[in-house]
Amino acid sequence: MNINNKQKFFYIKKIKNSKDKNYEKISQLFCNKAINDILNNFKIYDFRQVDEVEKNLAGVYIIFSIDKNKNLKFSYIGESSDIKKRWKTHINNFKTKNIKSRKFRTKEKDLEQIKFAVLKLDTDQNTRLKKETYYIYHFKSKFTNINTKIANMKMKCDFGHGVKRTYLSYDKNSVKFRLYIYGECRNKECNNKFLIR
Ligand SMILES: [Zn+2]
Repeated sequence: MNINNKQKFFYIKKIKNSKDKNYEKISQLFCNKAINDILNNFKIYDFRQVDEVEKNLAGVYIIFSIDKNKNLKFSYIGESSDIKKRWKTHINNFKTKNIKSRKFRTKEKDLEQIKFAVLKLDTDQNTRLKKETYYIYHFKSKFTNINTKIANMKMKCDFGHGVKRTYLSYDKNSVKFRLYIYGECRNKECNNKFLIR
């Protein structure tokens, strides 16, 4: 076993899960890098441009805002069978100060600053749910991410059963440090473990 990788993994889990102020700066750096990748590789919409999105696009999306120094202020990952409709609901909840938008409004007061991006299109719901969980782990931070759950209860194992838990892991046999996300089946006889990517 590679001790350096073990330490690295311990540290990454801390960065993603700790509320400790000592981890805030490094968490922010991780999140800034993650959002920078999105800004460079995906089409970004503001709330007015949401009208341009096609109807009935099924997929996984991110909603976020950054400050003037490109620090991520908040991220939210979601999935929907109709992204445009869902985004309109988010915008409406924000405008009307609906309770459902409370976390968004705590992190960002100005609707003009809120951005939207489609991360992955897929008509299969289970594929979307796994991708959604993948991105929630990717953006996991007690300081910037506002998702309340890591995985949707509707997620299924490879054999169609419910999922007990998802977790972050790494390849203990590899010299190169690589993170993996796994889902674990709830059915004791099945016990399927599957990769979430
Ligand atoms: Zn199963």
